Amino acid sequence: MSKIIVIDPGHGGKDPGAVGGNLQEKDICLDIARKLRLELQPYDVEIRLTRDRDIFVALNTRSESANSLRADYFISLHNNAGGGTGFESFIFSIPSASAIQAQDIIHNILAAFFAKYGFIDRGKKRANFAVLRRSQMPCILLENLFIDHPNDQTFLADETKRRLLAATIKDALVKALDLKLKEVTWDPVGEIARLTTAGIISSPHLPLDVVNWGELATVFNRLRGRVVQGTLNWNPELEIRALYDDNLINTLHKPFNSLLWGPFATVLNRLRGRRFPDEPAWNPEREIKQLQLDKLINTLRQPTDLLYWGEFATVINRHRS
Ligand SMILES: [Zn+2]
Repeated sequence: MSKIIVIDPGHGGKDPGAVGGNLQEKDICLDIARKLRLELQPYDVEIRLTRDRDIFVALNTRSESANSLRADYFISLHNNAGGGTGFESFIFSIPSASAIQAQDIIHNILAAFFAKYGFIDRGKKRANFAVLRRSQMPCILLENLFIDHPNDQTFLADETKRRLLAATIKDALVKALDLKLKEVTWDPVGEIARLTTAGIISSPHLPLDVVNWGELATVFNRLRGRVVQGTLNWNPELEIRALYDDNLINTLHKPFNSLLWGPFATVLNRLRGRRFPDEPAWNPEREIKQLQLDKLINTLRQPTDLLYWGEFATVINRHRS
C-alpha cells in the first residue's frame, strides 16, 4: 500500500500569514506545496494538500483531515518573519521516535541546501504548535526563510529557487520516508495516442510499424512549427526537403525508406541544438549516447537498428515534455 503524505501549505484566504514586500506567506507556501506535489509524482506515494487554493482552513481541520486519512506523514510549510534570517524546522514538543528521525534527515538536507545560498541553519526545534500537537502521525513544520528579510525575500520571490527548494524537500522526504519510484510499465500504444492528441500525427500507427523518412520529416516539421505546404495532401518529399533546407539532414532521403536509430538520433539531436563539431566524422554511436544522457532513451541502441513507432513516439514525447 502506498504511503500517504499530507502537505500543509500554511495560512490562506483571510489569513495571509507573514508579509514581506509584495510577498504573502500564504501564496509562497501554496506555490511550494504544489511544486512539491509535482516533484513527488514519480513516487509511489499518495499526496494530499490541506488546501489547494487560496482559502482559509482552520488548524484543527488540517490535522483532522490528515488523521482521518491515516496519513503516514504530515509536512507543514511556512515562512518565518519578525527579525531574523535562515531556516529552521519544528516537531512537536513531545515527539515520537519516528518524528525525531524524520526531522534529522529532512532538516539536514534542507539546511545544506539553504547553506549553499548563504542562509544560516537556525536549528532543529520543538514546539507545541496546533498542527504538530493534533496530528496523530509524525509531522514536521518547516520555516523556510524569513519573508521580511531582504535576502530571504529575494530567494522566496524567485520562481526557480522555489522550484529547487521543492525538489530538495522532495529529496528529503524520499530519504526520510524511504519512498520508492512507481513501477512504470511502458505503454507504446498510449505514447502513440499522445502524439495523435497533440496533433503531431494524424493517421494511426502500430507500435511495431517501422518509421519511414517521410513520417519522421513530417513529425519533426510539426514539432518545430515548420509549415511545409498549404495543400491538403501530404507531401513527404517536401517535408524531407524542408529538413534538408534547414540543415537538419545532409541527404535527401526517399520518403518510404525505413529509419534507423543512428540517423534518427542525429536528426533529433540537431533539432535539440546538439551538434558535435569536435567529431572528425559522423559518429552515430555518440548521437545515440547523447539521447541516453538527455534521458530520452533508457538503453542504448545500435545505429543500424530499425526504429519502430512505439519507441519513436516514446522518445518524441519525452523530448516534448
Ligand atoms: Zn506561518
